[in-house]
Amino acid sequence: MPSALPTIVHLDADAFFVSVELALQPQYRGKKVAVGGRERGIIASASYEARACGVYTPMPTARALKVCPDLILLPHKGSYGDVSRKMFDLCETLTPYVQRNSIDEGYLDLSPCGLKSAGDIERAVRGLQKRIWDELEIPVSMGIATNKLVSQIASKLRKPRGFVVVLPGDEASFLEPLAIGKLPGVGDKTETALQTHGVWKISDLFTKTERELEALLGRDWPSFLAMARGEDDREVHTGHEDAKSYSQQETFSRNIGEIAEIERVAKGMIDALMPAIRGDGKRVRTMTIKVRYGDFSQESAGRSLPEASDLEQPFYPLVPVLLKQAWSKQRPLRLVSVRFSGVEDGGRQLDLFAETDEKRRKLAAVLDRMNSGGKSFRVQHGHQLPPKKAPER
Ligand SMILES: [Mg+2]
Repeated sequence: MPSALPTIVHLDADAFFVSVELALQPQYRGKKVAVGGRERGIIASASYEARACGVYTPMPTARALKVCPDLILLPHKGSYGDVSRKMFDLCETLTPYVQRNSIDEGYLDLSPCGLKSAGDIERAVRGLQKRIWDELEIPVSMGIATNKLVSQIASKLRKPRGFVVVLPGDEASFLEPLAIGKLPGVGDKTETALQTHGVWKISDLFTKTERELEALLGRDWPSFLAMARGEDDREVHTGHEDAKSYSQQETFSRNIGEIAEIERVAKGMIDALMPAIRGDGKRVRTMTIKVRYGDFSQESAGRSLPEASDLEQPFYPLVPVLLKQAWSKQRPLRLVSVRFSGVEDGGRQLDLFAETDEKRRKLAAVLDRMNSGGKSFRVQHGHQLPPKKAPER
């Protein structure tokens, strides 16, 4: 499912532990270096020069010293956690959507950044890559694509200091020539099994019949095939979210092209989601609207409030703004979704609007109570009513 812009970035630090040590001891840069225990230890991280010599992770240190006798073994000195935190903090200067996957890997979603073209996105990500090097002396590889799967494969393709962009619509052709083992979930055993049946490249999967695929990959084969086509709609989850974001989507029975109707649907979703957010005692900061066209291509746009809120009103004005950005093709839509992220714990809000907000919150609480339970009626906001039909002439 291509989206209009490649807004998902996978960031992967290159030989992270070694890079942290080299920032402290730059005299070893460009040498065959590894971090690991000397006595009966294993190699935790190896420089690319050491890898070229046959050192990999995890490998017993004794063996590494045998295959690469001039290997420089560095003891742990650096504070890996601190450097990792600083690296992801730099990412958060670019977008609030940063998913810290592990100490040295994560995803960024740039859709709320208001970047208008793939070129803008590329420049922003190159800027981040440079800043992480300038400020922390950590080399990182970046993969940019429309989804997590493709961006992750892209970031690992040209390490170190890789920078691979897969433009919307190019996902499948990007994956086709790659080795089958590049697909997540295809481990060594599966890879060997596939190779013995002639599947070496990702594109080779498409030469197999459904029966052959099931025999090779098990009942899960359709999801492997979707991956092979570059399809993935997992979202980027930030660590600040408590468990999950709040979202709702609606697939229309017929494609809809009227802006007023789409705005009404989106505002209705705000009204549907906010009681759940209040009910959980949470506030949310970022709203993202996603639209999907008849051909399944999709676009999204997000915006953050200066302060998290648990009220509908601050988010209504974002609807036309986000739709203007996300619905760039103006073609009829088959689906609209609204997602709230940047979830924070509720608590008293101290701002200029506190008093009005307090009144709104009391009213909202009354409405939430009236609307809860299996009542035969719902109290609705004006914009939820279907638009009046023009009188027939
Ligand atoms: Mg890494």
